[in-house]
Amino acid sequence: MGKSLSFITPSGRVTLGNYIGALSQWTAEPGNVYAVADLHGITTPWNPETLRSYIIEIASVLLALGLDQQGSMVYVQSHVPAHAEMAWLLECIGHMGEFQRMTQFKSKGKDRGDVSVGLFTYPALMAGDILLHDVDSVPVGEDQKQHVELTRDLALRANHLFGPVFTVPQPRVPGIGARVRSLKNPAEKMSKSVIDDGTVLLLEDADAIRRKFMTAVTDSGREVTYDPEAKPGISNLLEIAAALSHQSIEQIAAQYQNAGYGAFKRAVAEIAVETTRRVRQEALTLQSDPAEIVRRLDTGRRMAEAVANPKLRQVKQAMGFLLP
Ligand code: ATP
Ligand code: MG
Repeated sequence: MGKSLSFITPSGRVTLGNYIGALSQWTAEPGNVYAVADLHGITTPWNPETLRSYIIEIASVLLALGLDQQGSMVYVQSHVPAHAEMAWLLECIGHMGEFQRMTQFKSKGKDRGDVSVGLFTYPALMAGDILLHDVDSVPVGEDQKQHVELTRDLALRANHLFGPVFTVPQPRVPGIGARVRSLKNPAEKMSKSVIDDGTVLLLEDADAIRRKFMTAVTDSGREVTYDPEAKPGISNLLEIAAALSHQSIEQIAAQYQNAGYGAFKRAVAEIAVETTRRVRQEALTLQSDPAEIVRRLDTGRRMAEAVANPKLRQVKQAMGFLLP
C-alpha cells in the first residue's frame, strides 16, 4: 500500500467522529506522515489562545496513539515552511473553476459575511501537504475525498507541464463509520468546529460522554434496527458502536433489538467510554508534560524536513526557478 499521510486541523477539540473516521484507523509504519495542520486552522476566524490549545490537544492525541513510533512521524505543519511555499506554487497551476467546485468551501463559506481568501485557496495547501511527501494513498473521510481528487488533478497537471515531479495519490475511504453524525442532529456530520451536545469530545471526562449519549436524539418506534432513512439517530448510534467495538452493525442491532432506546444508548455510551479510555488517559498525561510534547514534535519536524525540503527544491528546479 505504500506510505500514507494524514493531517488534522486544530479547528476545535478532537471529536469522537475524528477518532472513528480518522485517528483510530491511523497506524505507525515506516514513512507514514501525521501532522497538526495549524496553517489550515486559520482559514476561518480564530482566537490565538484557543488555537494554541487545540494544537496541543491534537498533538497530544497523535502522540498518545504512538503515531511517532516505528519510523512514522508526527509534527506541526507550520514548523516546516515548505508547506506554505508549496501551496503558492500549486495555487499558480490551479484554476478558479476547479476551486470554486469544492463543496466544503461552499458549505463553510455559506453563512459567513467575510470569507477569507485562505478558505478558498486552502485545497492548494492541502494538495501541497500530500505532494511534498510523495505518498501513494491518503486515508480520508467522505468529506475530504473531493480535495484528494483535486490534488490528483494538480499533480497530473504539474507532471504534464514540468515533467514527473509528483506521485499521484489515491484517496482511501474507510467503510464503516466513515461519517459519524451529530448526536443532536443526525442529518449533519459530527464536526469539531460545531460545539454542542451533539459533538462528543475524545478527551472530555467519561460522565460528560455518557450524558451526551443519553440525550442523543432517537427516532419514532422502539426497535433498535439499522435504517439510516427512517431511523437516522439510532442508525448513527449503531454505526458508532460497531466501529468502536469492531463488530458488524447487524451484530450490535441483533443484541439490542428489543432492549429499548434507553438501554441501547447506555450501552453505546459504555462502549464509547471504554474503547477510548486508554488514549484519553495517555493524552492527558502527556499534556501535563509540555516539554515532552515539544521534544517529540521536534523529532517529527526534522523527519518531515528531510523529505519535504528536497521535494520542494526538485519542484522549483523543474518549474524554472533559479535555486540559491
Ligand atoms: P471541521 O469542522 O473543522 O471541518 P472536522 O471534525 O470535520 O473539523 P477535519 O479536520 O475536517 O475534522 O478532519 C479530520 C479527519 O477526521 C478527516 O480525516 C475527516 O475525514 C475525519 N472526520 C471528520 N469528521 C468526521 C466524522 N463526523 N466522521 C468520520 N470522520 C470524520
Ligand atoms: Mg472537516
